Amino acid sequence: MNQEKKINSKQKLALERIYRLFELANQMQKSTLEEKENLTKKYLTLAKKIGEKNNVSIPKELKKTFCKKCYSLNIKKLEQPPFLIIKCINCKFEKKFRLDLKTSI
Ligand SMILES: [Zn+2]
Repeated sequence: MNQEKKINSKQKLALERIYRLFELANQMQKSTLEEKENLTKKYLTLAKKIGEKNNVSIPKELKKTFCKKCYSLNIKKLEQPPFLIIKCINCKFEKKFRLDLKTSI
């Protein structure tokens, strides 16, 4: 099964914006602003909206960095092969990802 999809230039741009928004959200998370949780959430919600609008999904590597329930970056990663468990410190939501077990050369 070949999952590779060709994306058009509009989608490529959307993806770039998504990455940028996650970058901003991560920077925000490190700041001391009182509003940081709200702003982080705003960036991540926007990233998701851009994805939906342009029919691109949030890249897998980014999906593992936030809680999809409350859009918080305040998560804990637990490796329990064959799973990677993402636990949200804010709302206690847990999400399991299958670890990529392909041996890298
Ligand atoms: Zn959460």
